[in-house]
Formats: sequence, C-alpha cells, structure tokens
Amino acid sequence: MYRQCIVNQFENKVFDCSQGGIIRFGAACEACGQIKRSRAVYFSLWDQPPENMNKKEIRDALWEWESGCERDLAVEELRRQFNYCKICKRFICNHCLRICDDTDMCVDCAARLNETGTTIIED
Ligand SMILES: [Zn+2]
Ligand SMILES: [Zn+2]
Repeated sequence: MYRQCIVNQFENKVFDCSQGGIIRFGAACEACGQIKRSRAVYFSLWDQPPENMNKKEIRDALWEWESGCERDLAVEELRRQFNYCKICKRFICNHCLRICDDTDMCVDCAARLNETGTTIIED
C-alpha cells in the first residue's frame, strides 16, 4: 500500500506541457530542477481546426480524453526516470541519486548526513 501511495504522490507532480497539437507531460527533479518530458504524441485532430462551435465542442472533449489517456502512460514512463528519496521524501533524477550503505538517497541528504555514497551515472 505504501508503494501505491508513493506512485500517487508522483502522479501529482506530473504537469501538462502540451503545446499546439502535441500532447506531452513532464516532471521536474526536486533536487536539481531538471525537467524530464514524456514522449510527444500528436492529437488525432491536430491539423483540423474546428469549423464551428459544435465541432469545437467535439474537439475539446476528444482532446480531454486523449490527453487523459496519455497522462496515465506518461506517469508510468516518467516514474521510471525518477527515484524517491526516503529521507526528505522528494522525487529526484538519476543524477541526484546516491547509493549509500543503508539506502539510496538524494545528493542533498547524503551531504547533510555525511554519507559518501556512489552515483549510478557514469560521466
Ligand atoms: Zn536531479
Ligand atoms: Zn533527500
């Protein structure tokens, strides 16, 4: 149950960064602020501007539907690119993760708690 709770928390951090006819979501690392974006998906009516109010209503509803479906996939996709720091309870990118003796944590907590830790990113 606790894991599910973390997933829900992450879902709240995911924001909409759709632009024009492209549906896309993003999430930011809470340590360094780097933003990761999910795959870009074209809205099915992206190249068809609505001719009238009726068509616009249909289009808006379809956008809501497609964007909602894509959001679920984006949460899954983005979640795999983030780690959860159990100490400060933030979601962090791989660059900010430190593998310490007792548990993984973010770079800020590792420094504060005087843990050396290693990174999973090789430069
Ligand atoms: Zn980061
Ligand atoms: Zn932390």
